[in-house]
Amino acid sequence: MKRDLRLATFLILLVCVSVALLTAWQIWTARQNTLSDIRTDTLNLTHALNTYTEGTFKQSEVLLLGLTERIEKDGSGPQQLERLNMLIEQEMDTLPQLNSVVLYDAQGDWIFSTSRPFLPNSNNADRAFFQHHRDVPDRGIFIGPAILSRATCAWVISVSRRIDHPDGSFAGVIAATISLEHFLKLYRSIHVGQFGAISLTSSEGRLLVRYPFQVEDIGRDLSHAPIFSEYLRNTSSGTVDFASKVDGTHRLYAFKRSDQYPFVTTVAVGQDEAMQAWLSQTKQSVAVVLVLLGLLVALGRRLISHISRRIRAENKLLVTQTALIELNQSLEILASEDKLTGLANRRHFDQFLDIEFKRAKRLGSPLSLILIDVDFFKRYNDHYGHLAGDECLRVICQAIKHCVRRPGDMTARYGGEEIAVVMPNTDESGARTVAEAILSDIAAERLAHLSSPFGIVTVSLGVATCIANSDPDEKALIDRADRALYAAKSQGRNRLSVA
Ligand code: GH3
Ligand code: MG
Ligand code: MG
Repeated sequence: MKRDLRLATFLILLVCVSVALLTAWQIWTARQNTLSDIRTDTLNLTHALNTYTEGTFKQSEVLLLGLTERIEKDGSGPQQLERLNMLIEQEMDTLPQLNSVVLYDAQGDWIFSTSRPFLPNSNNADRAFFQHHRDVPDRGIFIGPAILSRATCAWVISVSRRIDHPDGSFAGVIAATISLEHFLKLYRSIHVGQFGAISLTSSEGRLLVRYPFQVEDIGRDLSHAPIFSEYLRNTSSGTVDFASKVDGTHRLYAFKRSDQYPFVTTVAVGQDEAMQAWLSQTKQSVAVVLVLLGLLVALGRRLISHISRRIRAENKLLVTQTALIELNQSLEILASEDKLTGLANRRHFDQFLDIEFKRAKRLGSPLSLILIDVDFFKRYNDHYGHLAGDECLRVICQAIKHCVRRPGDMTARYGGEEIAVVMPNTDESGARTVAEAILSDIAAERLAHLSSPFGIVTVSLGVATCIANSDPDEKALIDRADRALYAAKSQGRNRLSVA
């Protein structure tokens, strides 16, 4: 039963722990899968935006290439500029990202611009793109930092090319500007969440445009941010997650450096925000599992208390059973004991003699019986009273008991003031010795008996020994002992007689 209890407790604990571990493992796996999905999605988006941005710059580059060739071939006289203007206006209709196209001479003065009103005295020699083309004879395009256009007052990114004289000397710059709004319009249509961001940065880490848009962000130096200082050194695209130094928000970043142009596209999503779906699903699962575990624990507790009750009931039963056995034993003792003297009673004597007689017959061993009778006991009662008679009997019985020492012997109250001693495996001389000891010990007690001719309490004893089938049954043995006792009485009492 106790094993059942231990087993039930162990099983319930095992199931609870297994369910908890399984749930934890599932939650963790789901988290990893969700994170992996978010990384993949963000990286795909970054690649798509990169391709889009490359296309935007490519279109400007193609436009500038055509215009440069035309200017270098045809020159920039009023007529040529007129034709150039018409051509550019047509192109710009198909390129909505273009904010303006401006032609500068070698000093940075405006020669031509699509923006209206035309500011003829403007000079842009201070702009980075102009200084670059003036100082570097490279014919490739230059993507400048984000600037506030003097002509349109819009935030723009410039894409520019150098124009050379036929001798290769610097003739000026043609620049197309792409408004930041063009990128922001696209970025706004993409859902990156409240804590998400999309940004376009120069490959050195100078911010060109960022969504959500803040004017202060333009031109911010990000070259020390981990993406630029660590990751982009080894790879051109990837994902990374870290806490922003600006607002402390933990974000997942995907980045892609353009293979064609010096810019990097970055998409970031707030990690907690992106994991919201996973989190709410986890909460639901945990709630369900907790309810199930609660049920399991409740059922387990019921089972355990049921088993405990059964154990208690069984223990009670065991205690009752033990008490019953003890009671039975004491009842048995009571049933086989004489109340007054504490010796075995007549019933017990009969059973004992029956068994020992049969055993002696079977083994061929001797069995002796002594019958003892108190002399003149009627007179004792008459003289001292019945209660004193009882007390006298007790003392006599104690004296007899003292003389019968072997564990296999039995002393019983045969009836009235008669005592019997059964001695298995004892021959006549042994029995005689015991009988003599009883006779002398009782006399030695010197219990006063004024109505007896001896003056003290005395006994008479009849001894009979059964050897080698001398008696057909135990009654015959008793009869011989009784006759021996009678002989002792008739010979004057206070003596023993052997059958
Ligand atoms: P004797 O044996 O010497 O021939 O004489 P007796 O007086 O002992 O013989 P008898 O058998 O006539 O008397 C036995 C008496 O023992 C009768 C009875 O009152 C008394 N007696 C028997 N059992 C008890 C007992 O349990 N208590 C008391 N006090 N007396 C008992
Ligand atoms: Mg008698
Ligand atoms: Mg007597």
